[in-house]
Amino acid sequence: MAAVVLAKGRDRRLKAGHLWVYAGEIATVDEGAAAGELVEVRDFRRRFLGRGTYNPASNITVRLLTREPDEAVDRAFFERRIDKALSYRDRVFPGETTLRLVFGEGDYLPGLVADRYGSCLCLQIGTLGMERFRPVLLAILRERLDPAGIYERSDLASRAHEGLPPAEGVIEGKVPEVIPVTLDGLEFRVRLAQAQKTGLFLDQRLNRQALLPLSGGRTVLDAFCNTGGFGLYALRGGARSVLGVDISPSCTQLAREQAGANGFQDRAEFLEANAFDFLHSVDREGRRFGIVVLDPPAFTKSARSVEGARRGYKEINLRALRILEPDGFLLTSSCSYHIGLEDFLSILQEAVADSGRTARLVSVRGQSPDHPVCPGVPETSYLKFALLHVS
Ligand code: SAH
Repeated sequence: MAAVVLAKGRDRRLKAGHLWVYAGEIATVDEGAAAGELVEVRDFRRRFLGRGTYNPASNITVRLLTREPDEAVDRAFFERRIDKALSYRDRVFPGETTLRLVFGEGDYLPGLVADRYGSCLCLQIGTLGMERFRPVLLAILRERLDPAGIYERSDLASRAHEGLPPAEGVIEGKVPEVIPVTLDGLEFRVRLAQAQKTGLFLDQRLNRQALLPLSGGRTVLDAFCNTGGFGLYALRGGARSVLGVDISPSCTQLAREQAGANGFQDRAEFLEANAFDFLHSVDREGRRFGIVVLDPPAFTKSARSVEGARRGYKEINLRALRILEPDGFLLTSSCSYHIGLEDFLSILQEAVADSGRTARLVSVRGQSPDHPVCPGVPETSYLKFALLHVS
């Protein structure tokens, strides 16, 4: 098999557990290495480091699949990896039928994401290397899970870096336009074609549960609510009222439908608005909430725009703190990989100081366990969530 040979000293990332080889780490590439095909990765003395898929068009040129010299990357290999991913899910969410089944590098399957929504699967292939294995992956998922239908949401912007066009639509079987699923006793209506990512934001599942014991009798503002995930948990926890705000009308519409499906329509209201402006006007009008949830989209996707993103996080958190009643709770998130946990906590601390409020950090969490973090691949850890009690 053709080898990609790393420059001297440039094997540190792989040796520390990462699965990516960047173009700048490569000294030479053997003749015969072909885009989308398997290659071996070797250090400058040509010692074997692993085997993975090659894409010279991408800055992430190799994605490692195995470090075992004798392990072939064939159908049996993917069966083992997928079976491991599934049996891990059975441990962390026994019997659950709505969850992320495969989380890319977090399951040692770079470029592959698969979610399950009841009887349907949603697949996302992000790399040329995984594209090559599409038929095998589909065959295994079909065999293991017998889904009624498989939908594809490979419409990631990052596919362009791989030289791949976006791909979206039903791959096989029947996928209803609306998939009704139950999660934590709540009814959700998943519309895979309309969703912003691969369906529900499943990474926040356990963080939403934090609302259950806190919400009794409280007024809740769910800012950046998408289809109302946090708000539904608050309503289930007995919230007096929930106001969800999102800039996208299709999200607020679906949020309303989901609230209705759970019989919460009398206590729930969803508003199409810019959350920045909305928080500002609530503050100006002197209106107050018992609980505020902030779950914005990533404010930065690159290291270059971190400063602007910091300002954005500071602003919404400052406003949220100001509009909380005494004895209130702030549930606040960041899914910007480029803003680390320490940085996020320091932004929150600055917002608390500027707000003149007193706040205590109740808990700090990350992604739900169906999005496991691979410690050698820091990019797999992106979600930061903090719960604050504000007096
Ligand atoms: N909390 C949601 C997920 C939020 S995803 C859940 O639990 O499912 C981020 C959301 O922010 C998206 O729905 C997006 O439409 C919305 N959004 C992006 N910019 C916004 C803005 N300026 N004001 C309000 N919503 C915004």
